[in-house]
Order: sequence, then structure tokens, then C-alpha cells
Amino acid sequence: MDKKQFKAESKRLLEMMINSIYTQREIFLRELISNSSDAIDKIYYKALTDENLTFNKDDYFIRLKADKQARTLTISDTGIGMTKEELENNLGIIANSGSFAFKNENEAKDGHNIIGQFGVGFYSAFMVADKVTVISRALGSSEAYKWESEGTDGYTISETEKERVGTDIILTIKENTEDDQYDEYLEEYRLRSIIKKYSDFIRYPIKMEVTSQRPKEGAEGEFEEVQEEQTVNSMVPIWRKNKSELTDEDYENFYMEKRYGFDKPVSHIHIKADGAVVYNAILFIPEKTPFDYYTKEYEKGLELYSNGVLIMNKCGDLLPDYFSFVKGMVDSEDLSLNISREMLQHDRQLKLIAKNIQSKIKSQLLALLKDERDKYEQFYDSFGRQLKFGVYNDYGMNKDVLQDLLLFTSSKEKKLVTLDEYVSRMPEDQKYIYYATGESVDRLEKLPQTEMVLDKGYEILYFTDDIDEFAIKMIMTYKEKEFKSVSSGDLGIESESDEQDAKEGDSEHQELFEAMNTLLSGKVKNVKASKRLKSHPVCLSAEGELSIEMEKVLNAMPN
Ligand code: ADP
Ligand code: MG
Repeated sequence: MDKKQFKAESKRLLEMMINSIYTQREIFLRELISNSSDAIDKIYYKALTDENLTFNKDDYFIRLKADKQARTLTISDTGIGMTKEELENNLGIIANSGSFAFKNENEAKDGHNIIGQFGVGFYSAFMVADKVTVISRALGSSEAYKWESEGTDGYTISETEKERVGTDIILTIKENTEDDQYDEYLEEYRLRSIIKKYSDFIRYPIKMEVTSQRPKEGAEGEFEEVQEEQTVNSMVPIWRKNKSELTDEDYENFYMEKRYGFDKPVSHIHIKADGAVVYNAILFIPEKTPFDYYTKEYEKGLELYSNGVLIMNKCGDLLPDYFSFVKGMVDSEDLSLNISREMLQHDRQLKLIAKNIQSKIKSQLLALLKDERDKYEQFYDSFGRQLKFGVYNDYGMNKDVLQDLLLFTSSKEKKLVTLDEYVSRMPEDQKYIYYATGESVDRLEKLPQTEMVLDKGYEILYFTDDIDEFAIKMIMTYKEKEFKSVSSGDLGIESESDEQDAKEGDSEHQELFEAMNTLLSGKVKNVKASKRLKSHPVCLSAEGELSIEMEKVLNAMPN
């Protein structure tokens, strides 16, 4: 039997593609610039093996020109160009990628930087253009061809002239409609900002006529407008540079330029991973909480680049919630992207990267804690609460990652201490890690419950944050020491004689306690003689797992 080929209604297919693949119109520019960059890369790779070809970097660039009168936006490159046949195959067949084929043919030569692979990006031009004209002259040819299409009703190819090898893509930008604005794609500032956003690290210069103010010659204090061509993109991404070339200031500038925050980061991490998964990353630990940090509106995530091209603004999967304050970016060649290049196809690589990043952040925070305590405490003041939430959430699953990063105010000099510091200076006879929960350190110090523990010469952790005690309940034990609230029934320090005294007290004043129990019925569970009071006449203590303070928090929570 004959096997039939599927036929596709190419008009419909193109329409569907143009309207459904991409979520944002502006990415057409990213796609066209990426194609130009690929075309230059191909000459570069060819020159590596072809003795007759030399690659002189200055000859290779991408140029943008907007003409408001004619409503055209032209993207030119001095790349490898296309022959008539290539125009047919690459632009006439949807989902045919010349770049993907090139990569496969040249695998040995490492075509890693080439971006194209799906053979659809070019058509995104029709999201903003009524008509697309491509004029191209291929490397090694003196002929040039013009490919032209108004979208769904096909294309034409004709002979034309072109002075040098390369490609011009001329978009006739759509007219504004009531619902959709297109004029912006002819505006210099808008184009610049799109390039900055997606294509800042394309390795070849993207040139553009830019209007700028210049002091007028001979007229002091006056300015004149001048048009001059500028390179809009930064080209070499800071994350590809060597750490040794970079100063703290470079990183801080990057943080500001990227608007990761308005503060000055307390620390940065520059990762160049070359193992199971290859990626570069620059991460920042901010100093101050963003205004919406502890609200639902706050969205965690890192910028995700594939080969220097921005794919995602906020990739949330790269950060665990407890490190949601971290800002920065990741660039990897190893990502498998979906067709719109807005999402990832497999998350295996991403998971590996995320895991890797998590451990780097942890070590960085530990190093900060160890070597730059002041800075760490500054950071902790802003984000400590998030770390404690992290311990509490997921049933304490992350306590191993986080417990050594926690700080609590201690009765000793009222300074912040780590659990490790607390445990390492416990007297030998001390069995528990003691804590007291309340509104403020001042009030906690005056509690009758703290008196006895302090008198023994033991240190107490003062929990003044709602989340503190909940977090500690998840940790349960630290270095085999259990946590104990100073308001719990059994403090574990009473001697036998205290015990005896309390029992005697109970029977001696049986009537009084009975009367008090009746009086306070429903408010307290039991009134009895205490073995832990010294200078105070009375105190409240908890019998079960929950301390009084925890019960208060739970009762205050909406059901
Ligand atoms: P992809 O880039 O994923 O391959 P595109 O639809 O963006 O898909 O482009 C299709 C093909 O057209 C490319 O693979 C490339 O062979 C060719 N092409 C597109 N733009 C250019 C250009 N500026 N110079 C040379 N070839 C190009
Ligand atoms: Mg492409």
C-alpha cells in the first residue's frame, strides 16, 4: 500500500502559529536578532576551518533602522546570507531550520552558540508586520534575491541587487488599531529597551541610530540634538567574564542596571559550573526586603538565559521558597526549550541547576555568618523570618539546610547567637536548650519563669517572633539537645528536694488550691504549688506540647 504524506493547510498553520506560540509580541525582535547572530556565527565557524576565509570581527554586526514615514523597521546583518534555494527552504517551509541542520553538520566544530533550532522564530515577524521583505546575498555568491510575503497568502522570490554579503529583513509595521498598538516598534527608545531586555548579550554589536543631547559648540549651557550610531547591546555578559577580572563594584553595578533591587546587595555569588550541567550564574543576597516581600504578591525567581538570550524573566523553579529573596540570573547552553523558547521542555537540567544553586547559596550564607557577622546580621534582620518559615514549612524537611543559618537573641548579652554557639557553651550539667517566648526581650527578662533557669547559669533563647517557636518544634533537637520552653511543666533542673517541697505545698494548701481551681475553672487547667518560683509569687506554665505563646498564635489564626 502507498503511504500517503500528511498535508497541511499551510495558511491556517501559519496563522495559528503566529497567533498562538508567543505570549508577547515584542519577542519578534529577539527572534530576528537571534537569526542574524546565528548567520554571523556561521561565517565564524566556517572561518575556523576554511583557510580562504578570515573573520575580522569589525566587519560583523547587526543594524537596526526605523523609518516612521515609510513605517518600516529594517534589521540588517553581515552574516552568511541565503541563496535562492535557502530562501525557499528556510523561509518557505515552516518548521525547517537551516540553523539546526548547520549545527548537526558541524557538531565536531562545536556549534554551541547557535540559537536557532525550531524553524519558526522568523514568522513571529508577522505578529507586528503586514509585509516582510527579505533581501539576501549568500557568502560566495554575487547574486542577491528578494523574498517577500504578506503572511498567509504565500511568498514571492525575485532577483535583486545587494552590495555586500548578508541579509536585510524589512518589516512593514502594522497600523495601530483600537485594541493594538504597533507604532511603538518604530520608536527608538522602545526598540532599545527590547534589545536590552532580550538581546543584550548577543556577541556581535547591534547598531542603531540614536538621538542624543550634546552640549552645543560655542553656546554655553545650550544643547543640541544629534543623531549618531551607537552599539546598543553590552555584548560580553559579565557572567562570562572571569571572576578575577571583576570587582565588587562591577557586580553592584550589574545589580543596579538589572534593577534587581534598590539596595546594595550584602553579597554576590558568581558560579561557573562545568560539571553534570554547564551553566553560569550571578546571584545576589539583598540587604533589604522588597516592599512586597512578605506578601502574596511577591514573586520569587531568577532570570533564565539560554546562550545569552533571555528566555524567562522569573524562573521560580530555580529557587526554593526559603531562599526566595535571592536575585540574579542563570545562563545555560544545556536547556531544552519549547518551541516558543519561553518555557522549558524537560526540567531535569533545571532541577540539577536548582539543586546546585541551593547549596551554593547555603555555603555563601554560612561563609558570611562566619567571616562577616555584621553583614550577616543585617541580612538576617531582613530575611531571617523567611528562613524560619522555611524550617517550619514542609514539616521540617529542610531543617538540615537551614538550622545552622538561624539566629536568636540570647539572654547572654542580649546578642544574636546560632544554635551551634549556644550548644557549644552549655555547661556540662545542662540538659536542654532553653527558650522563652514573648513579645519583647524586655518582657521576657522579667518573667518569673526565666528566673530559675538564669539562676542556674544557663542561657535562654528569647523568641520574640511568632514563627520562632513553631520553627524550633520542627527542628526538635539540635546536636542531640532538646528544646525546652521555660514555661513548660518540667524544666528538668529541679532537684529532688524542690519536688518534695512542691508536693508538701500541694497537700498543705489543698483547700486554697481547690477554691482557686473552682474560681478559675475554664480559664486554667489546674492551680498547684510550683517548684520553680523564687522572687515571684505566681507564674503560668504549660503542660502539653504547646507553650502558652504558641496557643496564643494558633488561637489568633483565622480558621
Ligand atoms: P530557527 O532560527 O529556529 O532555525 P527561524 O524561523 O528563526 O528558525 O529561521 C529559519 C531559518 O532561516 C534559519 O534556520 C536560517 O537558516 C534561516 N535564516 C533566518 N534568518 C536568517 C538570516 N538573517 N541570515 C541567514 N539565514 C537566516
Ligand atoms: Mg530563529
